[in-house]
Amino acid sequence: MQMNVVSANDLCVRYNSVQVLTDLTFSIAQGDYIGLVGPNGSGKSTLIKTILGLIPSSKGILTVFGHDPVKLNHRDVIGYLPQKMNFFNPFFPATVEEIVALGLVSRKKSPAGSGRSQRAAVEKALDMLGISGVRKTLIGDLSGGQQQRAFIARALVNEPQLLILDEPTTALDPEIREQFFGLIQSLNKNARVTVILVTHDIGNIGKYASKLLYLDNRLIFYGSFGEFCDSDRMAHYFGTSSQHIICHKHG
Ligand code: ADP
Repeated sequence: MQMNVVSANDLCVRYNSVQVLTDLTFSIAQGDYIGLVGPNGSGKSTLIKTILGLIPSSKGILTVFGHDPVKLNHRDVIGYLPQKMNFFNPFFPATVEEIVALGLVSRKKSPAGSGRSQRAAVEKALDMLGISGVRKTLIGDLSGGQQQRAFIARALVNEPQLLILDEPTTALDPEIREQFFGLIQSLNKNARVTVILVTHDIGNIGKYASKLLYLDNRLIFYGSFGEFCDSDRMAHYFGTSSQHIICHKHG
């Protein structure tokens, strides 16, 4: 039997006295593409941080690749693209290839001769994102879309088995957005990379993801868009009009 990538059983997470996630039970299999959606403050980032092992659960069980994520050296198997490079100074004097190579810093194994394999990994990631031509360009001199590609390349350089993307396209123009989604889709389909994409764009996520995880402190819905479309409970929760905008099954 194949191991789940993420498995949550009655998972609860709290910040001090405030419980933010309550009794979440779900599992994510290899090759799933999850759209993680919910209102502001519904706990999406908290769930991501818990999966990344940055905050502990307060109750229940969470495993990521079969291990407690707090103990797992997640950086080797998870690629994470944060929402916004708030910390990123556009005048930071790093080239595109240096930014991408930063994704390898966390690599545990650094045997002799790893310099060559690391260069090859950077090469491959630059290639995949179509930014080899700007490798020597300072990151601050690139357009927003190309900067985004450099950060995606950084998230991918370790060849992660799980890719977590937090509202990745808010800063992108529509054409670059489409390209971005195409790329993620091909990684998911061709390389079987499991994807969790946090988004506010509930009316479009059905175009890309295979499953919807709708959170509002509790798990409101988890399943395929077909199941969402057929669910009387969701018709009641969202109203039939919104339900079918979300399910994306009716053109
Ligand atoms: P979302 O990503 O869906 O907007 P969050 O996971 O960021 O939701 O937040 C869920 C709730 O937890 C919110 O009420 C938020 O104020 C609270 N919260 C988030 N981070 C912290 C923190 N570090 N300490 C205390 N409360 C927090």
